[in-house]
Amino acid sequence: MTHAAPQKPAPDSPDVTIITATSPMTPSSHGGRAKCLQRLVRLDLPVPHTVALSFDAVHRIAAGEMPDVDAMVRSFPETALLCVRPSSEDPDWGGPGAILNIGMNDARFVELSDRIGAEAAASLYLRFVQGYAVHVARLDPDMFDDIEEVGQTGLSAALAAYEEEAEEPFPQDPAEQLREVLRSMARAWEGTTARLLRQARGAPADAGLGLVVQEMALGLGGKGECGSGVLQLVDSVTGLRQITGRYLSQSQGREALERKGQSLYLTRDPRGPSLEELAPEAFEALKAHAEVMRRRLRAEMQIEFTLENGHVHILDGVRVARSPRAAVRIAVRLAEDGIIPPQEALMRVDPHSLSELLHRQVAPDAPRDVIGMGIAASPGAATGKIVFSANEAQASAARDEPCILVRRETAPEDIRGMHAAVAVLTERGGMTSHAAVIGRGLGLPCVVGAARMKFNMRRKQLVAEDGRTFRAGDVITIDGTHGAVLAGAPEMIEPVLDDSFQTLMTWADEARDIAVRANADTPADAATARNFAAEGIGLCRTEHMFFEEDRLTPMREMIFADSPQDREAALAMLLPMQRKDFTELFRIMEGLPVCIRLFDPPLHEFLPTSRAGQRDLAEALDLPVSDVTRRVEAMGEYNPMLGMRGVRLGITVPEIYDMQARAIFEATLDASRDGAPVVPEIMLPLVSAKREVEILRTRIDAVAAAVRAERGAEFTYRLGVMAETPRACLRADEIAQHAHFLSFGTNDLTQMTYGLSRDDAGRFMSAYVQQGVFSEDPFHVLDVDGVGELVAIGVARGRQARRDITLSICGEHGGNPESIQFCRALGMTYVSCSPFRVPVARLAAAQLAIRDRLGENV
Ligand code: PEP
Ligand code: MG
Repeated sequence: MTHAAPQKPAPDSPDVTIITATSPMTPSSHGGRAKCLQRLVRLDLPVPHTVALSFDAVHRIAAGEMPDVDAMVRSFPETALLCVRPSSEDPDWGGPGAILNIGMNDARFVELSDRIGAEAAASLYLRFVQGYAVHVARLDPDMFDDIEEVGQTGLSAALAAYEEEAEEPFPQDPAEQLREVLRSMARAWEGTTARLLRQARGAPADAGLGLVVQEMALGLGGKGECGSGVLQLVDSVTGLRQITGRYLSQSQGREALERKGQSLYLTRDPRGPSLEELAPEAFEALKAHAEVMRRRLRAEMQIEFTLENGHVHILDGVRVARSPRAAVRIAVRLAEDGIIPPQEALMRVDPHSLSELLHRQVAPDAPRDVIGMGIAASPGAATGKIVFSANEAQASAARDEPCILVRRETAPEDIRGMHAAVAVLTERGGMTSHAAVIGRGLGLPCVVGAARMKFNMRRKQLVAEDGRTFRAGDVITIDGTHGAVLAGAPEMIEPVLDDSFQTLMTWADEARDIAVRANADTPADAATARNFAAEGIGLCRTEHMFFEEDRLTPMREMIFADSPQDREAALAMLLPMQRKDFTELFRIMEGLPVCIRLFDPPLHEFLPTSRAGQRDLAEALDLPVSDVTRRVEAMGEYNPMLGMRGVRLGITVPEIYDMQARAIFEATLDASRDGAPVVPEIMLPLVSAKREVEILRTRIDAVAAAVRAERGAEFTYRLGVMAETPRACLRADEIAQHAHFLSFGTNDLTQMTYGLSRDDAGRFMSAYVQQGVFSEDPFHVLDVDGVGELVAIGVARGRQARRDITLSICGEHGGNPESIQFCRALGMTYVSCSPFRVPVARLAAAQLAIRDRLGENV
């Protein structure tokens, strides 16, 4: 083959153009592959002669308008074989498979037999006939099933089979072959399946396809070393510098990867022979080319190469496939080597993918026996034995046996079981249901809303979507990253927070302009939050503290109390525990802001629902069981999420909030005495009227005054409102008069705006998203049109009333990159999300700031 400029008439329109250093070519007109090949040509790398067809040209081909293919063929040397490869704008959108060896016919077979031997020539022709029949002529692949012979006999049989099936001889004219290949690839791209597939990968519906027609370096026969392979300078899983790839003598395309048993390592390797030993000069040249590509294309590339008589040809370069971990390391390394600026490194890592780095994952290439699917509510993966109750989970943990807690849905009383389990699976629920919120907080893999599996709690059986039955004690794996339930224990990969991750995060913090706090309820959460450099706690849900073993009984006594005095007595037992909780949180956060939300859920969530539980409670409180049962039933509500909860409890059972305020203030003084000064933030949940805030502010001020007087010490605090009812947003101006801050609780706000229960949404959410009723699960990505409008109104009205008001979001959306964009655009001071999503939010916020500064072209 030759690299000299072709002597023959060349295609010369921009739509069908020879790739030279100067031909007009962009990824959005000719696709990423064509553009990349042009860059390689510009770097003077040994790229075979290539013609690029633009998106327009390919679109016209699909519509029946063929370019001058004869001229195209004439631009290649007469004896060349050609290959055609797809070139979509983004390589990740895929495209039809490459077709190799176009131009092969009876005459070339004879000629090639002389050069590379009849056997090799026959096998090449045979493969072309088979590929052409199936992918171009669209004949039935089974037609070759009976052909067992190889070599020339096999070839003759295949040509005969083709003729019989297609009712015409195998085409001999290279131009005709090429025309048909172009037509079939162009049409394949426009087909419905291909369109849906690429849309699923993020391509727009009208994404174009370019094609590149390239002279083949044969990699077969010859006097010197001939073969093909792929090479890259980094490991795709770890991102560490390490030459990886394979080489196979007498092969074409990517066969070296497909036939790993026969192919060679690239560098010297104790496991077997290598290209470095076989063809040291070619190996050195390849390494040098790869380094040039890395530096000049500013990316880690995988190169596809062919050796022809020992000479290197570079056929293609594609971005190295990379795990999220490798993506971080590659980007940071390129910046550290001065190849790209740190800002660009930040832009190259997808924030969504970071959470995969922070948790164990099922190994990407491990076999997966999927037994059910649900909503991917909390990322990471874990394997354990099935248990069907929180008690069994605790017992299992006590035996040191990892377990998966399987429930129809979880309630606060399951919290201890969740702590004991390694993962959670529920039949019901959505992105912000109890299991999901707690799962994310604990960093516990969680799949919710797996409604197509059967949860038979009484029989303790979990029935898979395909009908298989799993019992308590059977081992399953929860893949919370992908929303899958797997049978058995697939291989896992461990999380890594290496230097590259830390470096990337430091750069992100330098770039971003919106603060990131964490939702953290326990000292362990707070420690995780600090570990991920959260700038404070944006939401501490205090109710979770009451589910600890030693607190549940006084809590229940308090609920059963008949008089304020009895209630206060029970609360007095809880006070020192709460004080200790808060002191610990303040100490861990070392002066960073901590926003404590006063008690939110309906009280009956703390009461046992089972007969056995009610019997235990009756014993503990020394009451007849019937009394307990009656009280539990009496406290039940038709719509607990819209019932006696949040600030409504604060107004009607004020002793609880009094106790909590006192615990917060006493902890403030205790923690400030021997640590950084604390200014606690107290937040009222479920506010819908200004008067609620007025009443409670007066009470909390009174508690503050009492504590100051008793302790003889000063402190200040900030009172805020959780804007999570539509009315709180609409009346934010009057509410803001009494609040230092408004934090948008978009979980409840979404629930109430849509009139959509966050605990039941899982039942139909996937159908709704699949049918395009909702573009996304609104509990996952903030609905900026509806819920967002209420937030925007709340922000504007809150600011109107109080210019210096602090505005933030603390619903789960706070950790979602798309939603952060919305919050930042509204000028919020911070977002707050589960600790494990803090790095995701930090990177997403940095990207938004960089994009604003540099425009979209980064
Ligand atoms: C909310 O409603 O958005 C919120 C953060 O609170 P919770 O999830 O505890 O109801
Ligand atoms: Mg809420």
